Amino acid sequence: MARVLCITLNPALDLAFNLDVLVPGSVNRPTSAQLEAAGKGVNVARVLAGLGHAVTVSGFLGADNGAPFELAFAKYSLTDAFVRVPGETRINAKIAEQSGRVTDINGPGMPIDATHLQALIDTLNTELASATPPQAVVVAGSLPPGLSLDDFSELLSYLNASGVPLWVDTSGAALNAAIATQPAGVKPNENELAAWAGADMMSSDARLTAAKRLHESGIANALISAGAEGVLWVNAHGAWQATPPKVTAKNTVCAGDTFVAGMLHGLLNQHAPEQTLRFATALSAEAVRHVGVGTPLAADFDSLQQHTRIRRLDDTITEGATL
Ligand code: ATP
Ligand code: MG
Ligand code: MG
Repeated sequence: MARVLCITLNPALDLAFNLDVLVPGSVNRPTSAQLEAAGKGVNVARVLAGLGHAVTVSGFLGADNGAPFELAFAKYSLTDAFVRVPGETRINAKIAEQSGRVTDINGPGMPIDATHLQALIDTLNTELASATPPQAVVVAGSLPPGLSLDDFSELLSYLNASGVPLWVDTSGAALNAAIATQPAGVKPNENELAAWAGADMMSSDARLTAAKRLHESGIANALISAGAEGVLWVNAHGAWQATPPKVTAKNTVCAGDTFVAGMLHGLLNQHAPEQTLRFATALSAEAVRHVGVGTPLAADFDSLQQHTRIRRLDDTITEGATL
């Protein structure tokens, strides 16, 4: 069991509706609706806690609608170190139709000011200086209004300076800023990578070249995921490609968060790279078979792992992997 700190700067209450067909401009009656405390760092935290790790969650939460989060933290055994900010945590609505089409309506988030940022740094200082500091830190998701790219870079540099391996999963300008601070791990998906590389789309060869470039730019673990096509991993010891087993995808939201948690699980347990990648890939493939985050390992998980294909792309380098 390891200790992990998961930071979500712009969490959300996810409100998911399932509908036969969405009819804009009229009253729609969903077949089901769920409200869930979410945000990318919270999702990673839930999966890690489900795998037996001691996880603290932090970031910014609205003081006025914190209850669903507090219930979820208690339910999933997450230690709450979120800074409370006046106002409400945003609501993200997700409308899933029978056809598989999904419409997202994401709230902007609560404005953050310098006082809130300082309160977060004070909280993180306490976590990092504790008698049992985290062995890995994850920062995942988008930035709230008011938190500039410079603020974000400073926060990441501060976390990097603690010496605890930092993994960052974000997109757009925040991803560019994160890469420049050289965290220990990043995991853009193919679209996020293409935006970083300034391309519309990328072939798998171009993705591998980009992953190597990311690694060479100082990122120990450069990971690129591409949904059902699988993942590329470049680190100091080599390059690997994983292809997930074929599954019936019911909900691909959070697949990347589950994958990140699976990778950290293997690395924190010092599992061999192939075992680590196989586990994370199978875990994320399993996650897309159902709605929701972090269910226990499926009964057929061994079979999913067996049907995950791992290919070494570069065998000239020594074995091993570090967080
Ligand atoms: P997120 O919505 O959590 O941010 P992402 O876009 O970052 O997800 P993806 O590349 O979509 O991440 O998926 C991450 C991993 O999940 C993939 O590498 C793969 O192992 C698994 N996965 C995703 N979609 C599928 C699928 N349709 N079939 C099998 N596995 C999948
Ligand atoms: Mg995706
Ligand atoms: Mg993602």
